[in-house]
Amino acid sequence: MLLALLAATLLQAHPLPHRVLIRDITIVSPERPSPVEHGYVVLENDRITAVGQGSPPAGLWDSVVVGRGRVLIPGLIDGHTHLASPAGMPLPVPLDLRPLADAYAEQLPRSYLFSGFTTVVDLIVFERGFLDRFKAAPLHPDTYDCGPALALANGYPMAMDPKEVHWDFFPNFLWDPRQKGSIPARFRPEDHTPKTTVARVAADGGICVKTFEERGYGPVRNLPTPTLEMIRDVVRESHARGLPVLIHANSLSAWRFAVQSGVDVIAHGMWNWDEFERSNTLPAPIRALLDTVVARRIGFEPTLRVIEGLGAMYDPAFLDDPRLARVLPRSVIAWYRTPAGQAFANQLRQNFGGASDARIREIFQRVAEHGAMATRYLVSHGGRLVFGTDTPSGPTYGNPPGLNGLLELERLAAAGVPLRRLLEGATINAARAFRLDSLYGTVERGKVANLLLLRANPLETAEAYDSIDLVVVRGKVIDRSTLAARR
Ligand SMILES: [Zn+2]
Repeated sequence: MLLALLAATLLQAHPLPHRVLIRDITIVSPERPSPVEHGYVVLENDRITAVGQGSPPAGLWDSVVVGRGRVLIPGLIDGHTHLASPAGMPLPVPLDLRPLADAYAEQLPRSYLFSGFTTVVDLIVFERGFLDRFKAAPLHPDTYDCGPALALANGYPMAMDPKEVHWDFFPNFLWDPRQKGSIPARFRPEDHTPKTTVARVAADGGICVKTFEERGYGPVRNLPTPTLEMIRDVVRESHARGLPVLIHANSLSAWRFAVQSGVDVIAHGMWNWDEFERSNTLPAPIRALLDTVVARRIGFEPTLRVIEGLGAMYDPAFLDDPRLARVLPRSVIAWYRTPAGQAFANQLRQNFGGASDARIREIFQRVAEHGAMATRYLVSHGGRLVFGTDTPSGPTYGNPPGLNGLLELERLAAAGVPLRRLLEGATINAARAFRLDSLYGTVERGKVANLLLLRANPLETAEAYDSIDLVVVRGKVIDRSTLAARR
């Protein structure tokens, strides 16, 4: 009796790990020069504990997955999301849209998993409670964030939001002595220095720091931007705490600023070429700057879907794409078709002075092509592609959650990014950029068991990313079809 009790206590103290064997698989992982045929992996609880080839070890398994030659890759990482912003809806979400936004939020964690993204990073936290609820969902990707972003007072993106929520959405703004008169008196400069703002990100649990170099667009232009000295201080304070710095920059001048400031990752492609806007090839000064980006090992997120996601609103077929129904509740897609759902598309139309929808799409395609050209150059010269989608980039429904990542992967492949570079970008490079590479990015012993079982090899075709059969998150094996939005 005593012995039995003792054994029971011991068992309780050291419960047996949940053990899963995945065998007869082809392992494709970015650190391996070639795939491992007839491979296996052993998972214990949420970790990978063995990776090998041939006969798997004998053992007692809680479950066995027979791969029949299918391809196992590391789970994908989206290094640029805005989870609390429902795609296609205005922020803050108006009362009458709350039920729709709730339905969207309920499906959201499954939509990322459905699309293969087992780790996501939110770059601007303006509603911590939303992220807490996202992470409390029964199934959700591993979720990290950059805490409250360092926007310049009255600058981007603060100035794009309705005035009444400016300071609430960006409480961790950077003080600007040049505009003392236009910062409410309740804020004290010493609470908004590079040092205090970075400290606040760290205290909030952020693993990265996000800041901005953007003068605005559309009707909101000529915004104040930070000085080089400010951002250099932000970089110094962040690095002292082991935090990488990401900067929003999408123009030639903003990329120049980014390079001079010493940030780690540029969070957008360079699609605005400023004085070279009319050029159809990469001008020498841009090439020289891109060479510096490569030489300094600065990461970059091309985010081509930012522009294409705007163009999607003028594509009459976009809302009929059956892939949308896998990641969005039907009620949300139906709302996109209503006049209220089309309000942002109509508002943006006004910036194009009566141009036809086909013409608007052409213009966006041309802008995206500039971003693609810069990306192609960077990648072919050894640049460090970091995968991130910026989902959603604004109130457009053209960036559907999860699916936007698959579309970005497709678009990058079409832009000429070699498939191996693409896989690296969405796995190990993204993990390294956020200093998470001891946990994610490869199929290796000791890493978190976040994996995808695919019917095709992503080193042979980018379509492989949408051929997922099983999603493994923290050792839990999930049939992809169960993650789709309910119809
Ligand atoms: Zn963003």
